[in-house]
Amino acid sequence: MRRASALLFGTQIVLGLIAAGGLVYVGVERERPMLFAFAAAVLAVWLVIALRRPLRLRRAMRQPFPEDHRRILEHRVQFYRNLDDEQRTRFERNVQRFLAEYRFQGVAGVTLDDTLRVLTAAGAAMLVHGRPEWRYPAVRDVLIYPDRFDDSYEVGAKGDVLGMVHGQGPVLLSAKALRRGFSNENDGMNVALHEMAHVIDMADGIADGVPDSLGAYAIAPWVEHMRPEMTRVKKHRSMLRDYAGTNSAELFAVATEAFFERPHKMKHKEPELYEALAQLYGLDPGSMCVRDPGRDAAD
Ligand SMILES: [Zn+2]
Repeated sequence: MRRASALLFGTQIVLGLIAAGGLVYVGVERERPMLFAFAAAVLAVWLVIALRRPLRLRRAMRQPFPEDHRRILEHRVQFYRNLDDEQRTRFERNVQRFLAEYRFQGVAGVTLDDTLRVLTAAGAAMLVHGRPEWRYPAVRDVLIYPDRFDDSYEVGAKGDVLGMVHGQGPVLLSAKALRRGFSNENDGMNVALHEMAHVIDMADGIADGVPDSLGAYAIAPWVEHMRPEMTRVKKHRSMLRDYAGTNSAELFAVATEAFFERPHKMKHKEPELYEALAQLYGLDPGSMCVRDPGRDAAD
């Protein structure tokens, strides 16, 4: 994914330079100063737009990881606490990259703070920790709501939505659910993990529970396992909660939450599901979480 986007970016640069260079040449050659000035202006504007994102990211990645953000990870993210120093550095860079590329906005009265931003980024970083070559596909807005909301985005008693992802649009999250997802990291429910799993699924343009953009090798066991797992969910024989039975996209998102939050239980009860997700995410959280052994296996 990173190579593909770098190639696309490089191609855009080359094509842009050729097009603008051609216009400049024609302007000079035919002694048309207006055409030359116009072409030069177009080239300048295009360069500013094209380079803005990579330069902003480069600037952000040069900054040391903020100590305040590190404290939030240490206090609230068990996955991070279980990493060694080298892996913590990698995790922090993924958090830093996500915060640099995604724009956050508090809506319906939410005042954004570092905790909400860092927890969202931590959920995103967990999913790509075992795949350092992956990059989240597009810059999106993250809209943080105070609590549950309904289909009309109204916050209130009728709402039952904790999070949502729009096609190529924003990621919506309930602040309350986001905090709760990280205050209990062993109940298999984490809205940040759930919605970012949808983002990865949708990277190929389709929300079907098959994240093709991760590559055929990574997803093969998962694709094979989806149908039998869906059958188990429908018959209430799966460790996944019933919401996984909504459709294949929700199956993937709910399975992702359980994989990261209840690895021991999944490894014990549904080893094939566990192995499929371990290959997909390039990670074995059941072995990493040795500092809190078996907490998730208790129920
Ligand atoms: Zn969902």
